[in-house]
Amino acid sequence: MALYVKAAAILGQLEAKRGSVKALVFNSGHKNIKQLYALVCETLRYSPVLEDIISTTALLKKEKKLQMNVAKVLVYDLLFGKGLKCGGSWKALIMKHRSQLKSTLARLKIKRKVCRNEDLIESKPAKDYRLPRYVRVNLLKTNMEDVIDYFKREDYLYLGQATDADHLKNLASKQFVSDPHLPELLVFHPKIDLHENVLYTAGHIILQDKASCLPAHLLNPPVGSHVIDACAAPGNKTSHLAAILCNKGKLFAFDLDTKRLATMGTLLLRAGVTCHEMANQDFLLVDASDSKYQGVKYILLDPSCSGSGIVNRLNQFTDDEDSSSTQRLQALAAFQHKALSHALSFPSVERVIYSTCSVNREENEDVVEKILQQYGNHFRLVNLMPSWPCRGLDTFPEGPRCLRASPSATLTNGFFVAMLEKQNGQNELEQNRESFSEERVPLPESDLAPAKTLEGKPAACTPAPRTKKVKRKKVQSRT
Ligand code: SAM
Repeated sequence: MALYVKAAAILGQLEAKRGSVKALVFNSGHKNIKQLYALVCETLRYSPVLEDIISTTALLKKEKKLQMNVAKVLVYDLLFGKGLKCGGSWKALIMKHRSQLKSTLARLKIKRKVCRNEDLIESKPAKDYRLPRYVRVNLLKTNMEDVIDYFKREDYLYLGQATDADHLKNLASKQFVSDPHLPELLVFHPKIDLHENVLYTAGHIILQDKASCLPAHLLNPPVGSHVIDACAAPGNKTSHLAAILCNKGKLFAFDLDTKRLATMGTLLLRAGVTCHEMANQDFLLVDASDSKYQGVKYILLDPSCSGSGIVNRLNQFTDDEDSSSTQRLQALAAFQHKALSHALSFPSVERVIYSTCSVNREENEDVVEKILQQYGNHFRLVNLMPSWPCRGLDTFPEGPRCLRASPSATLTNGFFVAMLEKQNGQNELEQNRESFSEERVPLPESDLAPAKTLEGKPAACTPAPRTKKVKRKKVQSRT
């Protein structure tokens, strides 16, 4: 039993970049180091195949006690290793599903046209991990109904609102659904490429990974409020914030990088964003006491990070950690901590959302934990979206109030989100407390007066008519 639990723990530590395979195995204190090392390495090699089998058999749903990494090592040893060695409850639990797991493996081999287990690895290397194609509907220019209608006319089949990740996983090439968590997100088959689509080039849709839509959605600033996007370029989250603000209020967007800011200018223009003020400025040097920022209650901080959560970098799990990457992580974490402290220093700030596309604990939970140690008397950590399946690490007691995202658990890039809220924030935050959990707060009628897009058409923050730019084929939809 200890072998599997130890191996699973090491897989978790590798995901959190807490060391190399060799170092973690060696320091594990396990009595048979060689056996543990082989199990961890082999499970990693088969990881995408194991995730496929575990999800096809819905093993984690059937066995609620079982976590992904424990399931992986057990299923690895049952199907590809030397057979389960442990006695006890884990063996009994996995053996209940033995025939289903074996038949799923057999079907997978037929599907991939391979004979040997070994060939499964080559048939689908980790870098080919395919995430669904997420499409954020830009409510500044259009609305959900029009976009769904457009795709139906383009001969796509709309299957309605998805209720869980399995729906997103099993889409056929021309099917699409509404995302179960984010109201303005549609989900397509991974192979669908919409970069040339007229809706994309006209800024009606934004191609943005689901995890990267979480920060603006959860910050949820009321229409007309003043917001800072501290590290903004190339601006996907800025345009999402502008859509939530219905282009009303003020959106201060900072970035150090001139080139990325230029790209952001183009992107925001195309998305019809007008409520922003862009500055090529170091956020750390922005004067929090400047009267200009007196009304800023909401800050989104998505600072530079290692990017270790981006899918095609996941195969670096097995890389040995060298001193430069440790140093780099420390430098990044120091910057992230400074930037988060600075965000909390704005006099009127009530909510700060912190996000990274990193899976490293050092850039995520550790940064938030240190901040809470310093500012815990004034800010609390909001328990975000309780139904979200992937939580922050419990390396400190409040870690699970944060969100994590991963290709296997949430079908997204690896990501981390935490939200800090001022402790004495009375006003609308108290009234809207539930807004942090699942739903966008319904906007008061007074906030929904029509805004104008760049083209002067009614903005889709109001129920928008179809825009003239969008050409539709006269094809009868199939739903
Ligand atoms: N939020 C962006 C989006 O959704 O499109 C992505 C932001 S990216 C992860 C981090 C950005 O932080 C980079 O564009 C980088 O140039 C910028 N950055 C790094 N240090 C900064 C600083 N001190 N002040 C402002 N921006 C900074």
